[in-house]
Amino acid sequence: MAQRLKGKTIVITGASSGIGKSCAFEFARTCPDDLKLVLTARRIDTLKEIARDIEGEAKGVKVLPVKLDVSNADEVAGFVGNLPAEFKDVDILVNNAGLVKGKETAPHISTADIDTMFSTNVTGLINMTQALLPTFLARAPSGAGDIINIGSIAGREPYQGGSIYCATKAAVRSFTDSIRRELIATRVRVIEIDPGQVETEFSVVRFRGDEERARKEYEGVEPLTPQDVAEVVVFAAGRRENVVLADALVFPNHQA
Ligand code: NDP
Repeated sequence: MAQRLKGKTIVITGASSGIGKSCAFEFARTCPDDLKLVLTARRIDTLKEIARDIEGEAKGVKVLPVKLDVSNADEVAGFVGNLPAEFKDVDILVNNAGLVKGKETAPHISTADIDTMFSTNVTGLINMTQALLPTFLARAPSGAGDIINIGSIAGREPYQGGSIYCATKAAVRSFTDSIRRELIATRVRVIEIDPGQVETEFSVVRFRGDEERARKEYEGVEPLTPQDVAEVVVFAAGRRENVVLADALVFPNHQA
């Protein structure tokens, strides 16, 4: 596995916490040789700390922290254009940035919160994909690139009280499946990893102020760690070129 990742340049969105941050550490641990990581999110100070920690821990890895709001199409276009030469030749995109906002039930949720969820979880992921596809396609036929989208079990099995978030993740699933078909014969690999419950800042936001609901949701379930999901992401990226781990659902044992 490590061999295939040797010398790769990897962009991760939402790398300032949770699953994205764990993916950064896991790629660095798995294949430090000449690895280049571009870590993006809005909290640049946190990204800088993570970059220092990774470079301290995994010799041979170079990390570039970049402040980036994926929902802003102009920022995304500028991000790709402004990548330093050393980091420009991106091989793998991990589209991980995502959030849940405000009240989740459709009758109560504000237009602003709906807009934030769609513009981050869906449009943001599409912005990043569009921005990096030319780099991947320019490298074909000798090689191309990987697009790894972090969806959610919510995109397959909608739950009560999560109508907007579930709709965004269903859209991610549909978009991912569609571009996988569009890109057949280009050697771009399109992969979706759908986590179940994972203990991250996301879970805190999701249940903020509703301890009773959080208790019910997690009853009898030990949530995954972000590391559990990162290991699946790195495993998928590490397969040899002809193997596409197209679609994976990873959830805690006992999650209904
Ligand atoms: P976290 O809240 O820990 O991480 C979310 C990351 O997304 C942060 O780094 C945040 O960084 C970033 N982010 C949010 N909005 C934007 C934006 N507009 N532009 C750029 N970055 C942004 O949550 P998780 O690690 O749990 O979530 C990661 C992904 O996993 C999400 O797509 C989520 O939907 C999905 N997921 C999570 C599950 C869970 O139970 N935790 C289950 C299934 C899927 P910053 O604030 O610095 O911008």
